[in-house]
Amino acid sequence: MNDNFPKIVLKSGKDQSLKRFHPWVFSGAIKKMYGNVNEGDTVKVYSNHDEFLGLGHYQIGSIAVRIFSFDDVEITDNFWKQKLEKAYRLRKLLCLAGNAETTAYRLVHAEGDGLPGLIIDMYNKTAVMQMHSIGMYAIRTMLAAHLKEIMGDELEAVFDKSAKTIPFKADIEAVDGFLLGKSEPGVVLEYGNKFKVDWQEGQKTGFFIDQRENRRLLQNYSSGRNVLNMFCYTGGFSFFAMRGGARLVHSVDSSAKAIDLTRENVEMNFPSDARHEAFVADAFEYLKDIKDKYDLIVLDPPAFAKHRNALSHALQGYKRINARAFEQIRTGGVVFTFSCSQVVSKEKFREAVFSGAAIAGRSVRILHQLTQPADHPVSIYHPEGEYLKGLVLYVE
Ligand code: SAH
Repeated sequence: MNDNFPKIVLKSGKDQSLKRFHPWVFSGAIKKMYGNVNEGDTVKVYSNHDEFLGLGHYQIGSIAVRIFSFDDVEITDNFWKQKLEKAYRLRKLLCLAGNAETTAYRLVHAEGDGLPGLIIDMYNKTAVMQMHSIGMYAIRTMLAAHLKEIMGDELEAVFDKSAKTIPFKADIEAVDGFLLGKSEPGVVLEYGNKFKVDWQEGQKTGFFIDQRENRRLLQNYSSGRNVLNMFCYTGGFSFFAMRGGARLVHSVDSSAKAIDLTRENVEMNFPSDARHEAFVADAFEYLKDIKDKYDLIVLDPPAFAKHRNALSHALQGYKRINARAFEQIRTGGVVFTFSCSQVVSKEKFREAVFSGAAIAGRSVRILHQLTQPADHPVSIYHPEGEYLKGLVLYVE
């Protein structure tokens, strides 16, 4: 089967991770490529002993092949449709697809849904597709059409937002745009809270869906507290805090656009509520001198390390901001602290936060260990997919 696909043979011993269903082939593992292999091509991967290992998309870079099938099956349009159907059925099971109270969710989470290189987020009836590989980019129109067949009335538009995420763009003139239908930036719901999401211009696919359950948890800790929402972006943690009965909420972000969005969103949910104020400021500057103003602090920075070689710098960053929060938070205060860097492991993040606590010399206890929600599933064979890490800490 699939004999027309170029063949890639791995070096001796480099087949082990694929046999354990890890979906990445690193370029250093390749012994030989047969035929003319171009970026985005589907390739067949074999061990040094000519055993079939998997089918995947080839890409120039450190991850050379992203495997989408460990079985030697025929790769037809229907193969992709079935993958999308499975992803959709899981979101139905999670009561996210078709939910009236929460209308933003992740429909496809790359490796976590057996679709490496592909992210699809739903905002009401608009699907925002973000491709991270040329192989997925090449089949985007077909995927969009299948999505419509699967979702019917639940889908009105598909927006392709890959211009900034596909690699080696030099050869491809990627322009963001609608693949199907049309829609305007709109208001989505998360547990009944309203968010304005601009999927065309906003960060990532427009919104940080992955913090949904953590924002909701914050609500339970907010009653009567003075809350600092650092790195607030669209203000999500802020209005969950307000809903939970916070005394005051300060939202801070270095981007003026983010602060405008936060103000707009808070106003939509809590019109003329004087408890909320938002400031444009750099986190490190702002945290220098907050004294004991706050007793609930959220630290949700952007990925400090996007690549492995930036790791130690990133860990220093986590240590520093957490130390600042621990030094100044009131006794009995609670810190929600996060890392969304894929290259920072749970253990490394915890160490950095613990070093921050030690610098501050406070008693710190872990109340919750947080991660991403179920619509961002992690293949048990691909632990790298668990990128969001969080701790809720009680500080005395
Ligand atoms: N907590 C948000 C997501 C945070 S994304 C949510 O629930 O949706 C990270 C945010 O950090 C971005 O909005 C970015 O503008 C902001 N940011 C990046 N560097 C910063 C800095 N040095 N100081 C303050 N904000 C920063």
